[in-house]
Amino acid sequence: MKIVKMATGPLQVNSYMVWDEETNKGFIVDPGGYSPKIEQTIKENNIDLEYIILTHGHVDHIGGVEWVKAVTGAKIVGTEEEVEMFENSRINMSADFGESITFSPDVIVDDMDTMKIGNMELLFIKTPGHSKGGMCIKVDKALFSGDTLFHSSVGRTDFYGGSMPTLVKSIKEKLFTLDDDVKVFPGHMGTTTIGYEKEHNPFV
Ligand SMILES: [Zn+2]
Repeated sequence: MKIVKMATGPLQVNSYMVWDEETNKGFIVDPGGYSPKIEQTIKENNIDLEYIILTHGHVDHIGGVEWVKAVTGAKIVGTEEEVEMFENSRINMSADFGESITFSPDVIVDDMDTMKIGNMELLFIKTPGHSKGGMCIKVDKALFSGDTLFHSSVGRTDFYGGSMPTLVKSIKEKLFTLDDDVKVFPGHMGTTTIGYEKEHNPFV
């Protein structure tokens, strides 16, 4: 499995292109906007991009969804609880940036659902708190944590549907029960591990 991190969109969110090198089938997590790096990575590695997986619906994570879908035909994946955010530019805050971004997901996933992409087995873990329908995606020893868990920090809870007690509960019960050596790829800032955050995260 290959993971390439790229900062995309006006707020430079961490997007991740992930693919299985045997089948070239892959997915992208949170495309924040148009990015030549996304195009280039797909082309250079001949990636068959099957899914656009959204950890949640905030404006900085969704700006590239329509473009990536148009270019690759990939299907959009999200949770039921996040649909109102995907479909409402006030709630997803794109209206605040003078651009209305709305779309509907093609595939709805639930807590602990799995999905096979090439030889990769994905596990969806619902982690509400930063938003109502936020989720993390685990593949082998990699966890894409969106804005739920950051290096030594956690996501904001002052946006629509946010709740700090819910966020802390999600992290404690759903993420800190994973193996210590699981590497965390967050929506902002650098990578970390579950073990490091269990020891050092001041918010949990
Ligand atoms: Zn967010």
